[in-house]
Amino acid sequence: MNCKDFQYWLLTRDVFTGNENLDVVKHLKGCKSCKKLYNIDLGLEENIQTAFVQQEIPNGLSHQIELTLDHAKIPKRVSKKRLTGSVFSVALASLIAFMMFFNTPFRYENLQQLSEKAVTRHLKRDMAMSFDANQIEQALIMLRKELKFNVIIPNLKNQGYALLGGRLCILDKCKIAYLFYEKQNKVTSLFIMDDNHLAFEMADGSRFINDIKGCHTDIWKEKGQIYAMVY
Ligand SMILES: [Zn+2]
Repeated sequence: MNCKDFQYWLLTRDVFTGNENLDVVKHLKGCKSCKKLYNIDLGLEENIQTAFVQQEIPNGLSHQIELTLDHAKIPKRVSKKRLTGSVFSVALASLIAFMMFFNTPFRYENLQQLSEKAVTRHLKRDMAMSFDANQIEQALIMLRKELKFNVIIPNLKNQGYALLGGRLCILDKCKIAYLFYEKQNKVTSLFIMDDNHLAFEMADGSRFINDIKGCHTDIWKEKGQIYAMVY
């Protein structure tokens, strides 16, 4: 297996069934750059799963999960074989919940709503990162895979922002890229999503500026992507 084959495998693999085959394991052992890409992908997937568990799950959905889990409850005395079955059912139930969660489209009604959510997330000050600034090229490949759009990083260097790194996160029900920047010893959050997450038309190049809870928010649209910056 060469790097091209490996990257094809990485971009098309299914997280839930993705068993690394022997060729993949062999390539990972010998190739540093593919290993780097692979680790970023694992990190991003971990982010999204943690975010999913942490997110207040909507009532209807948690009811559905309960129903599914009811069938998966582990009886007191079970054989090893049955236990494996139960663990599998629980995993399956979470997978179904996970898929239902992202399949229900969520759209922001207005930019006020989006800026409030962005500020709440910014104020959590959770700076867990699955890649740093040096890995941005590989991270972009993986972000594009996870978010299913061509994520473009805006040029903020000339405004004095230094990229620190980032991860994936869930803002409401939107899976988005979350980047951290530093300017004059202050951390700035930048959220990137595609415009499918807006319930209205926002013109390319337009801006929405707001002050909430002592934070400044700046939302703009560029090349079809929505950027929400909070500092
Ligand atoms: Zn390689």
